[in-house]
Amino acid sequence: MNDNPYLSIDRQMVGDIYTSPEVMDNLTILCDDFGSRFGGTEGERQAAEFMKAKLEAYGLQNVHLEPVEYLGWRRGEVTLEILSPLQMTLPCITLPHAPAADLEASIVDVGDGSEADFERLGDALKGKIAMVTSRTQPRGMNRWVHRNEKYGRSFMAGAAGFIFVNHYPGYGPATGGVGDGDEGPIPAISLALEDGAFLARLLRRKGEVRIRLHSTDAFEQMVSWNVIADLPGTAQNPEIVMLGCHYDGHDISQGAEDPASGTVAVMEAARVLAQYAGPRKNTIRFALWGIEEIGLIGSTAYVAQHPEELDRIRFYFNMDGAGHGKRKDVVLNEWPDLEPVFEEWQKSMALDFSVGESVSAHSDHYPFLMAGVPTGGMEMVEHDLSGRGYGHTRYDTLDKVGERGLREAAAMAARLAIRIADAAEWPAARRGQEAVAALFDKQQYQDEAAIFAKIRAYKEKLQG
Ligand SMILES: [Zn+2]
Repeated sequence: MNDNPYLSIDRQMVGDIYTSPEVMDNLTILCDDFGSRFGGTEGERQAAEFMKAKLEAYGLQNVHLEPVEYLGWRRGEVTLEILSPLQMTLPCITLPHAPAADLEASIVDVGDGSEADFERLGDALKGKIAMVTSRTQPRGMNRWVHRNEKYGRSFMAGAAGFIFVNHYPGYGPATGGVGDGDEGPIPAISLALEDGAFLARLLRRKGEVRIRLHSTDAFEQMVSWNVIADLPGTAQNPEIVMLGCHYDGHDISQGAEDPASGTVAVMEAARVLAQYAGPRKNTIRFALWGIEEIGLIGSTAYVAQHPEELDRIRFYFNMDGAGHGKRKDVVLNEWPDLEPVFEEWQKSMALDFSVGESVSAHSDHYPFLMAGVPTGGMEMVEHDLSGRGYGHTRYDTLDKVGERGLREAAAMAARLAIRIADAAEWPAARRGQEAVAALFDKQQYQDEAAIFAKIRAYKEKLQG
């Protein structure tokens, strides 16, 4: 027996997705024609125009670009010279939103950069350059430790500079924004594992390694665009279901898996929903965000620019990089009353996904979560803490992404969207600010809460 009330629409949408070249064609255009789509590049503007034109052609309504003004960053030249105990230069890159460097100092090896590593060093980092690996689960810790936390701790310990060392061999340096959307307080560069290991050995054997860092990155005011499109609802005052993913990648790569695999999955869901799902009771809105990679800037601007909408957003579903080849589940951001709703759909959809809960600060759901809006994402419930792999390196390229992952993400998103939009009962409503703050009282989010407090503290220190 099949108790799926949407069986006929599901068959049309899924059948179309699995027999159309569209989703892979779009990925190829985003990656091969427009490159990284990093904030401030020509490809970024071209990608925004392309996605707008596509969404119009698919029959979506209210398709438009929303400009976002922000403090942008342009990569310049960088050199890392070892001054003593020997003289040589090492290849490196700067991290986006780091200030230009003109700095001579000794290196301190902070290892993986756990809380304990920083505590152990105490004042030893003052005026020095902190060298930290990109390992996302430092020894002795059972959570994901983000680059910005290590950078923030280095700054607060008085470090004059930051060196981020990839913990994977063979991938070169890993990039990632520092400074949380604004100019970072201290210079930051990134090294390949092999060069970081060389510096660490030198330091162990010789006791002191002095280097000179020189970089010419520049800040300037820039404009980016969020791309918005609607399948308008028929209800009197329709609520809104949002599917979203950013489209900017890091400038050193194609950003194929992160984020473009999710970007094109959102577009593909929009295409089949417009074609087969007709208007639903509530509005389904598609949001392709600019400039996530240097501080969630596009989605944060959207939440700030549309305060009147926030009470009406039934659910924001984040699909950052969701077209990867791994398992796809629904991870809710602490909305236990929604669990049985999704579990019921899981059965009637005859689709293998799990429903879990977690809270994190590192993608475009976060500004919505902090505004109290019900949020979740297409992620794995059993979160892998080992790291980003080739993500955030120059090897996040189109060849890493397969058609299967893209189609699976698009089909799952489209099918869930009609169910969320039509549900007569929706047991989640916007949280007040106290309830948002209370989220971080939970034992398992204490650490995450501590990060936010630290980041706020270092920003205040920076301004004060
Ligand atoms: Zn991403």
